[in-house]
Amino acid sequence: LSTTSEHPVKHLVVIGVGLIGGSVARALKHAGFVGHVTGVGRSRENLDRARELGIIDHWTHDIAEAVHDADVVLVAVPMGAYDRVFAELAISLPKGALVTDAGSTKQHAIDVARRHLPDPSLFVPAHPIAGTEQSGAEASFAELFEDRSCILTPEPSTSLKAFDKVKALWSATGSHVIEMDARQHDDLLAAVSHLPHLAAFALVNAVRKQGDEQHDPFKFAAGGFRDFTRIASSSPEMWRDIAISNRPALVKEIDALQAELVEMKKALINGDGDKLLKLFSAAKKARDEWLEKHGGSL
Ligand code: NAD
Repeated sequence: LSTTSEHPVKHLVVIGVGLIGGSVARALKHAGFVGHVTGVGRSRENLDRARELGIIDHWTHDIAEAVHDADVVLVAVPMGAYDRVFAELAISLPKGALVTDAGSTKQHAIDVARRHLPDPSLFVPAHPIAGTEQSGAEASFAELFEDRSCILTPEPSTSLKAFDKVKALWSATGSHVIEMDARQHDDLLAAVSHLPHLAAFALVNAVRKQGDEQHDPFKFAAGGFRDFTRIASSSPEMWRDIAISNRPALVKEIDALQAELVEMKKALINGDGDKLLKLFSAAKKARDEWLEKHGGSL
């Protein structure tokens, strides 16, 4: 292994070398935080490309083989693959090795880790609040996490030493680390991330269904439609998995959006312009304040 003792993490194993896994590997290499990086995935083409690009040093399809001498394992696969991936990595995870992840929902990650890992106190769940609608190693870049937040959701039983090391790892990617309870994270993200994705998918479908042979509504779609629906170009598989792994919170958020739409619909039916103005103005004020306070990011 091409490592020196200067690296805080000698051997990092990245399971799922996609946009997120690839970007973490790039950022940590760039920061000199990791020595050797092993990539694990399913597609030979993606893994070969990741090696060519210098994102990983070598790769295998075999999770158990990859992790047997790992110091830290990063799980960066879609939520639907968690159960299988954690079961496989638990087979040969060495004693004392730390595990972190990048999954978009945290309670599910914790439940899976508890079910499979020999020592769940060495699992430190994480969710970097950064991404694009692109997938795969080719789309990854070292600066993805710079000045973005990364939420860690440790349990009371999480090892303090493990937490500190994983916190240092995510900080080395350039992100600001925030600590939060997993359930609180899942509720919050259902509102600000998962619901917008579902709404974007729903809007595109609603418009799509209005088209026919003679009449293509997308022909007339402009900037507003493009802005609102950018995230409907995200990976359908990834978003299916996120939605399924955060069901109760997401159902509550859909009810909240539905209630807002019903209120607007009522105002429209009644020709109540004042009511619409009030609803639109409250939303504009909240969004403007968010941009001013947070620059549009968490
Ligand atoms: P991606 O599709 O770019 O990468 C996922 C990688 O995992 C792919 O290379 C795929 O081949 C691999 N993979 C899938 N199933 C696997 C399995 N069973 N074993 C091994 N490898 C497998 O997706 P991504 O955007 O990098 O997302 C990865 C994780 O990060 C997801 O859990 C996602 O919810 C989370 N996340 C995504 C974003 C985002 O905006 N894209 C942001 C934060 C967190």
